[in-house]
Amino acid sequence: MTTSAQLFERACRRIPGGVNSPVRAFKGMDRSPVFMERAQGAYLFDVEGKRYIDYVGSWGPMITGHADPDVLGAVRERLDDGLSFGTPTAIETDMADLICEMIPSMDMVRMVNSGTEATMSAVRLARGYTGRDKIVKFEGNYHGHTDSLLVKAGSGAVTHGEPSSPGVPASLAEHTITLSYNDPDAVEACFEEIGDQIACIIVEPVAGNMNCIPPQPDFLETLRRVCDRHESVLIFDEVMTGFRVAMGGAQAHYGVTPDLTCLGKIVGGGMPVGAFGGRRSIMENISPLGPIYQAGTLAGNPLAMAAGIALLNKVREPGFHDALSQRAATLCEGLQTRADAAGIDMITQQAGGMFGIFFTGQSRVDNFAQATACDGDAFRRFFSAMLDQGIYLAPSAFEAGFMSSAHAPEDIQATLDAAETVFASMNQ
Ligand code: PLP
Repeated sequence: MTTSAQLFERACRRIPGGVNSPVRAFKGMDRSPVFMERAQGAYLFDVEGKRYIDYVGSWGPMITGHADPDVLGAVRERLDDGLSFGTPTAIETDMADLICEMIPSMDMVRMVNSGTEATMSAVRLARGYTGRDKIVKFEGNYHGHTDSLLVKAGSGAVTHGEPSSPGVPASLAEHTITLSYNDPDAVEACFEEIGDQIACIIVEPVAGNMNCIPPQPDFLETLRRVCDRHESVLIFDEVMTGFRVAMGGAQAHYGVTPDLTCLGKIVGGGMPVGAFGGRRSIMENISPLGPIYQAGTLAGNPLAMAAGIALLNKVREPGFHDALSQRAATLCEGLQTRADAAGIDMITQQAGGMFGIFFTGQSRVDNFAQATACDGDAFRRFFSAMLDQGIYLAPSAFEAGFMSSAHAPEDIQATLDAAETVFASMNQ
């Protein structure tokens, strides 16, 4: 038995499924998870000292690689001042200024502790602001595990065959309308019928929780148009795409401006941080300025702010995202060439520093139905054989992959060499 297997057995006695977030359990991958001990740059090191080239990046935050010395240094510098004060601190305004400068649609921002809190609070704000209950989301989009949004969600929920969750009251879920991603006609038709009851649309502007599915031309534009027409709030959930697809997020990349934006992952530099913000006229309705309640004991934590600011200052360096995107493109193109040569039905999709690998004979995957129609068994075999080769991919066919600026050309080449071996073995 490996050390990881022993640790997993022990964890399962006390922690449901042995993990504190379901996807980490490798369920559906026919093997137990690898326990990691430390991480550096593009690499994870497991408890037996084996090195992996990592394309998960702690599910997004590690965009400059693990244990970035600038991020660690910023945390170390503040550590001796104390962990949390429960009072205002100047560094929270430094963070707010930085976010609003990098994402110009955000006039004001409130810090929270996770992406889930960001989307939950943004939806409450949209409902309170409009005085309407109904919300629109898209099948396969995941916005965290808050009740209203855990309806036909992607990634973890799909991997485990639970498209929605028991415990979400039907009386709440009935206010959540779920439409197909990349289907502007369905959005138009829905708003035509009940637009005056809809508080908001919440969308992943690049879907990253049903693998990686970029928006088709006119999809995001249609969302903007119907929200304007019906005075509904457009919320971009940029927890994954923010600071990754482009410096200003997917909204900068695709040129569509939401009313509210949700952030997480990179904004905390690896610490538990989320944020939501947007138009001043909407944000001014949040407590204590307005009546819509939202709060957090540890929100705006100074160490977390220090980590996040240090990371954001690195990703706003000129040329950062072009280089990141180029690295992801090199990986995707290399995988495609090798899959084609081996006669494996596989395609890749990419948006900036995020990418997806689909085992399908189709030329494109645009929505949840198409994502779930891909060959799950082929993905499982690919994932497992790549792991054996020291390449750490997300243990689910419904998660995007993440490139970091720490991935050197040699790391990408080593990944492609491993894939070539694995594709050959999959054909036998
Ligand atoms: N929104 C998106 C797009 C996400 O990908 C995630 C998490 O993966 C969340 C929200 C929830 O964030 P958290 O896990 O920090 O609660």
